[in-house]
Amino acid sequence: MSIQTINPATNKVVQTFEEMTASAVDKAITVAVATYTAWRKTSYEQRAALLHKVASLMRGQRDRLARLITLEMGKLIAQAYGEIDLSADIIDYYATNGEQFLTDKPLQPEYGKAFIRYSPIGVLLGVEPWNFPFYQVARFAAPNIMAGNVVLVKHASIVPQCAIAIEDLFREANAPAGVYTNLLISGKRASALVADNRIKGVSLTGSEEAGASIAMEAGKYLKKSVLELGGNDAFIVLEDADIDKAVEWAMVGRLNNNGECCVASKRIIVVEPVADEFLRKFKEKFTQVKVGDPMDPATELGPLSSEAAAVQLADQVARSVAQGATVLVGGKRCDREGAFMQPTILTDLRPGIAAYHEELFGPVASFYRVKDEAAAIALANDSDFGLGGSVFTQDIERGKRVADQIDTGMVFINHPTWTQADLPFGGTKRSGYGRELSELGIEEFVNKKLIRIS
Ligand code: NDP
Repeated sequence: MSIQTINPATNKVVQTFEEMTASAVDKAITVAVATYTAWRKTSYEQRAALLHKVASLMRGQRDRLARLITLEMGKLIAQAYGEIDLSADIIDYYATNGEQFLTDKPLQPEYGKAFIRYSPIGVLLGVEPWNFPFYQVARFAAPNIMAGNVVLVKHASIVPQCAIAIEDLFREANAPAGVYTNLLISGKRASALVADNRIKGVSLTGSEEAGASIAMEAGKYLKKSVLELGGNDAFIVLEDADIDKAVEWAMVGRLNNNGECCVASKRIIVVEPVADEFLRKFKEKFTQVKVGDPMDPATELGPLSSEAAAVQLADQVARSVAQGATVLVGGKRCDREGAFMQPTILTDLRPGIAAYHEELFGPVASFYRVKDEAAAIALANDSDFGLGGSVFTQDIERGKRVADQIDTGMVFINHPTWTQADLPFGGTKRSGYGRELSELGIEEFVNKKLIRIS
């Protein structure tokens, strides 16, 4: 696969990039290793100063960077600004809190005295996706650089300008060469890199296939890995929910980022007593969504990230319909240039239909009507994925009881699954393992060393 900027709103190639040669990659790893030996000895203050500078530069170039995101992967421009702000916040968050998270942890053993010392482990590889080209990198790079590790980032091949822009921010902030390195290489070459003895850990966000490939290599070479893969989040609406609010949040949960979120509200599950009212209101809003140019602030739904993504989503919908699903709204590609898909609602879904099992990465909502709370929980858990989920009820204690029974890494009460710097993010089952963000995120690639004093 070539490394290119293709504007998905037009499907026109904007710029093509040369892949790095094997010797250039080798040299970059050598530099990273040399830098690590010095970087691990720097103080938290020095690391924090660098990260604060990067965050500040990112905010300073907010307009240009947001436009790059929209150009390369089609995110609505207002959401692209939001992503830059969130990414800068995450970088500042680790700069501000990292030292406290990694401070020695005293233990109370039965014999002797002991504590845990958190030490960096070396050069890490991050394999990152296109759907949040700055945020995904921020949540990998910031905690690890703060912990004293150094990072190599293999970004998705469709967002090369975003990838280069992030490396440039580190350079402008005077980061020593090798603290943050962008690798312009294909996915397959990224998996092969895990074998390199100089790389000590790997983190991937992306598809199950790419995750399995990285995990296989990490297993073979006994390296720590963190995987954040797909999701099929349930959005449960109980009979005591505020229906208007639930409908509004379902719109956001399903259509945010043009529907291309691992934690999008993909399965809308509503209990019988309120199902008709919910579906009527949801359908009305879905039909009114304004599809168009993502650079236009009035647009509510942009293109998918690529023509390939749109072809795949349309195929999933077509297969589901052939297997018995009903299209309530949309169902087809838009009649215009670019990687556009109509906002779509599918109903009459059951096991055996593609949309019941597969992740639909785009503006396609699967609607399910169930008898009661127990049926909603059972349906929510009937998935190979286990990333996030939501429950809508005005009874918070009930919401907590339902949340406790959902087999995912995150459950939000009265909100779609969301993210912020100080909340952990990650899943169970085929959605991956490990956590990013918050205090948990900085603990993934550190040696939690026991020091015992007699
Ligand atoms: P991929 O998993 O292919 O891409 C994510 C990253 O993994 C990219 O950097 C990609 O590089 C890299 N990659 C691809 N193959 C390998 C491999 N064998 N070994 C190591 N790295 C690899 O996702 P797609 O873009 O193809 O999207 C497909 C589906 O994945 C989506 O429809 C969605 O279901 C899921 N996905 C989930 C995301 C999430 O946030 N959890 C994000 C993106 C996708 P390159 O671009 O060079 O191929």
